Amino acid sequence: MRSWRGLAGEGPWLKKAGGIADMMQSPEGSLHEGTKDRDMSHFIGETCIGTKDTACVEVCPVDCIHPTKDEPDFETEDQLYIDPDTCIDCGLCVDECPVKAIYPEEDLPEEWNKYIQINIDYYKNK
Ligand code: SF4
Ligand code: SF4
Repeated sequence: MRSWRGLAGEGPWLKKAGGIADMMQSPEGSLHEGTKDRDMSHFIGETCIGTKDTACVEVCPVDCIHPTKDEPDFETEDQLYIDPDTCIDCGLCVDECPVKAIYPEEDLPEEWNKYIQINIDYYKNK
């Protein structure tokens, strides 16, 4: 049987249409600051630092990984970040990453927990 994550990967229309991804969301939403009621998201962790090759950017169907190479802060940011409010949790970026920096929130290595907030903070003032 296919997982709901696999179904969500079929396109952003599912989220926009209030589909399975929305139905699977817990009533409490996330407890991370500033993102209550957001859907589940992937996040980028430590090993992106020093690699930053943007392979993940190329495959993201909703363009939620930044900064991209043509954005002004690409050179100054240490890593790339995923916008949890836009990510549809499709998982397409995971296998593109040569340094295994991208995980769904629930599978993020414990020692990388701080990267959830680091990803969120990047988009706070955008
Ligand atoms: S899981 Fe990755 S590819 Fe899919 S929407 Fe989120 S950031 Fe983009
Ligand atoms: S593919 Fe991995 S290392 Fe490359 S920019 Fe994306 S998260 Fe960073």
